[in-house]
Amino acid sequence: MDAGASKSIASATVAEQAALDRMPSAFASAYAPAPGRTLWAAVYACPQCGHHHLARGRALEALAGIRRARCGRRVWVVIARRYRGGGEGR
Ligand SMILES: [Zn+2]
Repeated sequence: MDAGASKSIASATVAEQAALDRMPSAFASAYAPAPGRTLWAAVYACPQCGHHHLARGRALEALAGIRRARCGRRVWVVIARRYRGGGEGR
């Protein structure tokens, strides 16, 4: 695999980067908090198991990034769409 590349692992960031390379991204639809719901919610199709998972968090930023999916695998959640809650807008 590694064709004689001499990489020096200087910091943890390198390891994190490597982990990111292997981590499949999940494109999520995020829903803003609505009356009766205080958290943001995001639904994404899991690239690992093929099912849909739900993620919840206090802020939209909290939903994006590395998460452990319901199926136990780790995925890189990317917020692809954002919907406002409470029937605002449309
Ligand atoms: Zn999954």
